[in-house]
Amino acid sequence: MDLFDIEQKKLPVNGSLLEFPVNRVYCVGRNYTDHVIEMGGDVVHESPFYFIKSTDTLFINGGDVNYPSMTDNLHYEIELVVAIHKGGKNIQPENALEHVFGYAVGIDLTRRDLQSEAKKLGRPWDTGKTFNQAAPISPLQLAADIGHPVNGKIRLMVNNSIRQDGDINEMIWSVPESISKLSAFFELVPGDILFTGTPSGVGKIVSGDNVKGKIDGIGDIEINII
Ligand code: MN
Repeated sequence: MDLFDIEQKKLPVNGSLLEFPVNRVYCVGRNYTDHVIEMGGDVVHESPFYFIKSTDTLFINGGDVNYPSMTDNLHYEIELVVAIHKGGKNIQPENALEHVFGYAVGIDLTRRDLQSEAKKLGRPWDTGKTFNQAAPISPLQLAADIGHPVNGKIRLMVNNSIRQDGDINEMIWSVPESISKLSAFFELVPGDILFTGTPSGVGKIVSGDNVKGKIDGIGDIEINII
């Protein structure tokens, strides 16, 4: 790639010619109880924790994903993604939804072996979470069109067999709470997006696998690992 080919990542918006320019990609860790348990964590209503995937990891509309280097354990995590169009810091939960432009379906691809090693050694998660095409994402649905969904099936299938099957109403920290607490760490700006965590059923995918994710009322995303 040539230096001048590098482009600002912009998410398409359903029903609009608008594109949403992405600033930062924030993620919430462990936000569904069953997933906390499968990852060997304790279910305590502690404050949510956050990490960042680099913005260039966004892989808009899905398609072919090249199996990443340095891993033998690539995992999928289907997630509801929230797009912010109004910045702020120390946002209160009761005002948080005013900051939301819309919603998308994302997959937080993870080099689980690298992440697990990092956890064990007390090192950063970056190599586990950030690599080329690590964040496939669907077009946005405008909150102005669909409102602010608090429930809806969130599902992921590998080769047409269901692996993750939850509901966004199972989040430990709701969307307003996650935005509120995130905005205490970072002053949010228009263009920030937030991956809100994954339900249980995460697992390994390999080259040749087809992965389809869907959240009712929000959209879907499909990738092929090659
Ligand atoms: Mn995740």
